[in-house]
Amino acid sequence: MSTNNRLRSVLLNKCPRCGQGDFFISKTAFSRNFDKMHRHCPHCGENLVPEPGFYQGALYMSYALYTAILLAYFFVFSYFLSEYYDYFLITLVPVFILMTPLAYRLARRSWLALFSAPKTA
Ligand SMILES: [Zn+2]
Repeated sequence: MSTNNRLRSVLLNKCPRCGQGDFFISKTAFSRNFDKMHRHCPHCGENLVPEPGFYQGALYMSYALYTAILLAYFFVFSYFLSEYYDYFLITLVPVFILMTPLAYRLARRSWLALFSAPKTA
């Protein structure tokens, strides 16, 4: 498949190898089972859990993601909402809590995409 690439599979909840099968069982991050994932790709059978504890490394992706969100949020406040700067920390916590399911899923998909090459043929 020519349109398969790592970024697409990370953003669209797809297997990093074939780009067809779903990575997480739930389509949306905002559901009760947002953290349930397939052990093998339903389309190509790629092992999505290569070894026990593999996704502990996704913590680093999550950390980088939250740092990026924090910096973006800070710059938005600095440039556009500077008169409301007192609300920066008060609103930061709910934003981070709301981002948790999205960041969790994005971190796991991007962590596996680092170690799994897309199928080229
Ligand atoms: Zn697959």
